[in-house]
Amino acid sequence: MSKVAFYLQEHLLGEVMTSSDAKSYFSTDNSILSIDPLLVVYPRNENDVRKTARFVWQLAERGKIIPITARGAGTDQTGAAIGSGMILAFTAHMYRILEFDSKTGMVKIEPGINFGKLQQSLHTHGRFLPPMPSSGEYSTVGGAVANNASGSNLVKYGDFKNYVSKLRVVLANGEVIVTGRLSARELNKKLGLTTFEGEIYRNLDTLVEEEIETIRKQDMPVVKNNAGYNLIDIKRKDGSFDLTPLFIGSQGTLGIVTEIEALSANYNPETVLLMAFCDNTEQLQNIVQELKELPSVPSSIEVVDGNLLSEAVSINPNALTELIEKPYPSFVVFVEFDIAAERQLKKMIKKANKILSNHASNVRIEYDKSEQDKLWKIRDTSSYVMSHNNESSRSIPLIGGGAVPINNLAKYIDGIYKLFEKTTLPPAIWGHIGDGIVHLQPRLDIAQVGDRQKVFRLIEDYVELVKSLGGTISGEGNDGRLFTPSLHNVYPTELLDLFVKVKNIFDPYNLLNPGIKFDTTTDDLKNLLRHEYKLSKLYDHLPRN
Ligand SMILES: Cc1cc2nc3c(=O)[nH]c(=O)nc-3n(C[C@H](O)[C@H](O)[C@H](O)COP(=O)(O)OP(=O)(O)OC[C@H]3O[C@@H](n4cnc5c(N)ncnc54)[C@H](O)[C@@H]3O)c2cc1C
Repeated sequence: MSKVAFYLQEHLLGEVMTSSDAKSYFSTDNSILSIDPLLVVYPRNENDVRKTARFVWQLAERGKIIPITARGAGTDQTGAAIGSGMILAFTAHMYRILEFDSKTGMVKIEPGINFGKLQQSLHTHGRFLPPMPSSGEYSTVGGAVANNASGSNLVKYGDFKNYVSKLRVVLANGEVIVTGRLSARELNKKLGLTTFEGEIYRNLDTLVEEEIETIRKQDMPVVKNNAGYNLIDIKRKDGSFDLTPLFIGSQGTLGIVTEIEALSANYNPETVLLMAFCDNTEQLQNIVQELKELPSVPSSIEVVDGNLLSEAVSINPNALTELIEKPYPSFVVFVEFDIAAERQLKKMIKKANKILSNHASNVRIEYDKSEQDKLWKIRDTSSYVMSHNNESSRSIPLIGGGAVPINNLAKYIDGIYKLFEKTTLPPAIWGHIGDGIVHLQPRLDIAQVGDRQKVFRLIEDYVELVKSLGGTISGEGNDGRLFTPSLHNVYPTELLDLFVKVKNIFDPYNLLNPGIKFDTTTDDLKNLLRHEYKLSKLYDHLPRN
């Protein structure tokens, strides 16, 4: 055991691991990248996190840099949950529900809690936390907040900014702060503090005031944008100030979250599902645009293309038996409503039916829950494609985390097909079409030199495509390590410089998840590329996206 591990184990309640098995397990997340950590810490409580951060800060003051990467379930697809220093694994001990107020729906939780389990508990009270990613059954709420993750209901419910009201955060120097929206008066008090927290508020307030014009350039006409840091929502016109939106989506690069306070929403399990077939991308775009103009938007607007269905059936010939007939349509669209008020629901179904009938065929409306589940099975064939391997090639989560403006959807999907054509890979897409988010996981064998080169060509072409359509590369996904070299394609240099200044305010020694959002080049990625890609950590569940 190294001196560092020895010291930590002496001072922490939680365990410190340096075994090669532990390091090997934590050397990968769900991305194509790999980094061996120095050691793994399983904090038992916030005090353990605080002590670890304090120790690391003191080492940095003496010139020794050992970074910290906070980690939930490690399902991140961009290499944001791996790092060369200490991995702080939250799933072992810090997974409790601390408080729930059934009147307001407020829930207080530790970051390592499994999202699916939290959701189950909330359902028993008629509530839910809407931005649950498809990976929620096996990932944590802490990881979801740090990634600003979202699910298929983003189109109606939005992302974590709408639900998280407060965070407890351990700062780089080990100090603990509680975030939340502060009035101008409360902000003044913070500005007077002599602590690191006070320094952060002073520097950030000055920066936000001075750089307001640059910050406005972050605004994009997309449903969700996780690229860089969310600076837009920190200070409002009324002078109120909140660090919460900045920490959400910052991927553990500004502080380590130890407690989350969120406001859950009313849950209505009584849904109605409409399904229809489309021939082309123009029809698809028209449907989405018109559905989004409804007075009550659907809770999901999803799509799968015929290529995905054909691929699923080639893997499992009975995957779609009695669900959908061959020849498969170009696209199958799913539109779900979860409106509780019956009259309003009826009205919206009528309108949605009209929109679908105008632009698509085979419209079906399903009220029965078990019939709906059958139809959703068509959407979920993506799991066959994602989890199947053919000799050594498999579906790789590489590109597809971006989001484009809805009026560019048709061009986006056409562009994606061209991208597949260029690399001679079989095309298949699915995703949250209502949000301008489409998933694609090209089938590659990253042990082969040719396919390893394709990885970077695909990323380059994908980023170019998204950029040309005014979109963001980090829509559903986040920058992580994989898209850090592409950030200059999304934002002007002055905005990127501003992100560096923000990072320096919170983390002057670059101790918190370095390499994420900054300081990673394409050459660095080439060195970190795994020689094999496996979903072995996910097979307890079926990966869906
Ligand atoms: C099959 C599949 C489907 C997916 N579907 C979706 C989807 O629908 N929507 C979506 O948005 N994403 C999706 N993802 C991506 C990913 O699963 C989610 O982002 C998930 O929320 C990450 O949670 P996690 O617990 O695995 O976090 P991790 O992967 O462990 O970590 C994610 C990030 O959070 C940081 N972090 C973790 N805990 C803390 C903490 N306490 N303090 C500060 N930082 C912390 C990590 O450092 C890292 O940067 C999917 C992934 C897979 C494999």
